[in-house]
Amino acid sequence: MTNRVSSEKINWGNTIYLIISPIISALAVSYWFYKGWFNWGTVILFVVLTSLIEISITAGYHRLFSHRTYKANPIVSIFFLFFGAGALQSSALLWSLDHRVHHQFVDHKDKDPYSISRGFMWAHITWLFYKFDDQVKDIKPADLYQDKLVVFQDKYWGYIAVLSGFILPTLIAHFAWGDAFGGFFVAGVFRSVVNHHATFLINSVSHCIGKQTYSDTHSARDNWFTALLTFGEGYHNFHHEFPSDYRNGVRYYQYDPSKWLIYGLSLIGWTYDLKRVSHNLIERKRSAMTKKRAAQQLQIATQSKIPQLQPAC
Ligand SMILES: [Zn+2]
Ligand SMILES: [Zn+2]
Repeated sequence: MTNRVSSEKINWGNTIYLIISPIISALAVSYWFYKGWFNWGTVILFVVLTSLIEISITAGYHRLFSHRTYKANPIVSIFFLFFGAGALQSSALLWSLDHRVHHQFVDHKDKDPYSISRGFMWAHITWLFYKFDDQVKDIKPADLYQDKLVVFQDKYWGYIAVLSGFILPTLIAHFAWGDAFGGFFVAGVFRSVVNHHATFLINSVSHCIGKQTYSDTHSARDNWFTALLTFGEGYHNFHHEFPSDYRNGVRYYQYDPSKWLIYGLSLIGWTYDLKRVSHNLIERKRSAMTKKRAAQQLQIATQSKIPQLQPAC
């Protein structure tokens, strides 16, 4: 694996869509209300499709294809590849390549594609406005390039994205309750904005705000609020410390529906070989971090002057 250095070239397709889609959404949703076209069916469709697409990113793009934390039968893979495309976050193959580089070079200013060390907005969205040198494409990790479903989705990603993200909700809303406008703009365009920024929060907020429960050698934080918006991805300090584990919210009270889905599907054999880091190792890391923090606080308390705390980002 190598770095994907950002070039000076603007990615106009990404830039234009990411900037105008929130504006179009605001105008279209206002018009939808103004014309009296509000429909609960469209609202439910929006919620369901947002959820299906987001969990296809979290349990699919992220935990299945990027990290291979478990194995899945073709039905599950196809489901994640179909709905994941609708998130408009590129193909599973490219998403996984970027994400593996992010883990390998986390916080490195040039090598981590969405490094928080380049600022909150860079990590959240600005990195997507630029093209990247394609060095990484030459590496071709075998697990991704030999996965026929992943390669197929990469090849036809644009068509699949339009189908699952826009045509599907428009047709459902049109034929079921006669609201094609709401199907396209509310469950299509506005939904894509929500899916974008929910995922982006992990790269920005979860590398900035929250608790470093297991390690402070990288910027990743455990943040319950981003976990709520991303089906459990917010426990990002745990994830960066144990990326091979299919769980992010490892404790029983932590909200991690992606974990519940993967585990639930394993009960019927649709997912298998779920990888878990040993409880002892997790506890050892947590306890070492607690002791380290206590020692740091003691040191601060014994110093005569008030320390200059550096902001996380
Ligand atoms: Zn991260
Ligand atoms: Zn990851």
